[in-house]
Amino acid sequence: MARDQLAVAARYLNLDEGLHEVLSRPKRQIIVNFPVVMDNGEVQVYEGYRVQHNTSRGPTKGGIRYHPDVDVDETTALAMWMTWKCAVVNIPYGGAKGSVKVDTKLLSKRELEKLTRRFASEINIIVGERSDIPAPDIGTNAQVMAWIMDTFSMQSGYTMPGVVTGKPIEMGGSQGRVEATGRGVVVAAGEAARMIGMDFNGARVVVQGFGNVGSIAARLAEEAGAIVVGVSDARGAIYNPKGLPIAELYSKYAGRDGGIIEYPDCEKITNEELLALDCDMLFPSAIAAQITAENAGNVKAKLVVEGANGPTTPDADHILSDKGIMVVPDVLANAGGVVVSYFEWVQDLQNFFWEEDEVNKKLERIMKHSFAQVYATMQQHKTDMRTAAYIIGVKRVADATVMRGIFP
Ligand code: GLU
Repeated sequence: MARDQLAVAARYLNLDEGLHEVLSRPKRQIIVNFPVVMDNGEVQVYEGYRVQHNTSRGPTKGGIRYHPDVDVDETTALAMWMTWKCAVVNIPYGGAKGSVKVDTKLLSKRELEKLTRRFASEINIIVGERSDIPAPDIGTNAQVMAWIMDTFSMQSGYTMPGVVTGKPIEMGGSQGRVEATGRGVVVAAGEAARMIGMDFNGARVVVQGFGNVGSIAARLAEEAGAIVVGVSDARGAIYNPKGLPIAELYSKYAGRDGGIIEYPDCEKITNEELLALDCDMLFPSAIAAQITAENAGNVKAKLVVEGANGPTTPDADHILSDKGIMVVPDVLANAGGVVVSYFEWVQDLQNFFWEEDEVNKKLERIMKHSFAQVYATMQQHKTDMRTAAYIIGVKRVADATVMRGIFP
């Protein structure tokens, strides 16, 4: 998917073949196998990866994912997407991604900490506050980032807050970082709605996924006047055409054993039914490859705003486009997280911290400005928003590469 999307942008940009080849490959990939002593005394060996795609515009940046299905190819695609994402919103980073093949539900907190600290030590040969800065992704959170920061600090002999972002506020995290991705999704959705003449107030929204991105996007969309009619988590989906109480789902059901499907006043539906619900906006905010050639024809939303990375396959993109459905692509729609990660890193390096209002205002300004640039490029090239975002992102990276020249 990632390489196909790059190839489309390369054609629009008339990209030199050699340069296209450079951009289609990761700069560095490391695979680590490392042992963890489990609570029962047995040793378990885990496999993890850190991939840095491109460093032309700055140090690399991107999350660490803990999930049983990860592999080095998926991690590489996610690293490449981070490169374009940082370039689309014009923050001075290249893309990276890390992951460990693990089901965190099977680990105790102590085992999770040991796995995290050992993985951090294994990848420290390429990670650092000036070279490659991790952040949370699926299966990781602020606590995991705190352990990574502590591990690097212990090994270097001084506290090094800038080595990861998405940390707890108490130890160098930024105000607004937890909400940033969801907030950015809602800002992008608001801009897209305005462009197609849709009233956000009263718009019916469906959110796939109730993790950090989906739950916050749902809550902020509700606060902005939308009616969230359907949501899902890994266990199933729920629907109520009159609207679901997101704040209550968040505080009373999310993260508990049964999850949000325990909420009584709704209809239980399948994931496929959720994606096909009659609604105005759909925020796929779970995992990759959810809207595919098989189900894209059933999507009834007028707008799809990608909270997840890679939720729509290239085949599905064509189907949605033929149906006149506007897709705000991941590299723009979910960039709010890495934008506030950038703010966090800047604050850490300067030891000077901002108020939440300032963070949110700066984030909103970047999201709106980037949206406007992508929208204008879309109109100029008479294409879809994903291709337009790639045209901008790939061009910025390609220009930096050419300007720097090839060493030696
Ligand atoms: N994991 C997030 C993403 O995919 C955030 C990355 C970051 O903040 O560095 O965009």
